[in-house]
Amino acid sequence: MTVLDGAGFSVAVITRTPEETLCLGRTLGRLLGPGDVVALGGDLGAGKTVLARGIAEGLEVDPAEGVSSPSFTLVHEYAGRVPVFHIDLYRLEDPAEVMRLGLEEYVEGPGVSVVEWAERAGALLPDKHLAISLTGSGEGPRRVVLSPLGRRYLALVRDLLTEAGGSLDVELG
Ligand code: ADP
Ligand code: MG
Repeated sequence: MTVLDGAGFSVAVITRTPEETLCLGRTLGRLLGPGDVVALGGDLGAGKTVLARGIAEGLEVDPAEGVSSPSFTLVHEYAGRVPVFHIDLYRLEDPAEVMRLGLEEYVEGPGVSVVEWAERAGALLPDKHLAISLTGSGEGPRRVVLSPLGRRYLALVRDLLTEAGGSLDVELG
């Protein structure tokens, strides 16, 4: 049997506290490397920024940097094991702005790009990436669905499950 790319495969993880989401992010961040792209989707308050903070910490960004939503700029760059670009398209006003932002330079560069509201990037997001969507609100649990697009990301999700397996509440879908 040959698994080609993981398209259509996804894994759902339930996190019950912000700390669990942070921890999932850290585990994922430890596995990421140069050129990786993580696309985060989900409503306001779903936990995208909490997850992004964990990912940055897993990439050895100093927690004192306090990764939060970039408010006036759409991109924050952090120095980690590799450069980490935290991109938040929430405040994007028109699609042409993504062009001006030079999103392609980030996602095709040697750093790791973590993009919130990634659906707003449209076709500028590379086909191959790790899509993560979060649902849930308030103090309730979050359902975190990881969908790898491309073999690299399929392997990453497999490694994530191996690393975090015991401590995660995982559903395969
Ligand atoms: P987003 O970036 O998706 O708009 P944030 O990460 O900024 O969302 O905010 C998520 C909020 O939800 C935080 O205030 C966090 O403390 C809270 N929260 C409660 N439970 C969870 C959980 N299981 N995972 C993530 N955040 C949670
Ligand atoms: Mg956010």
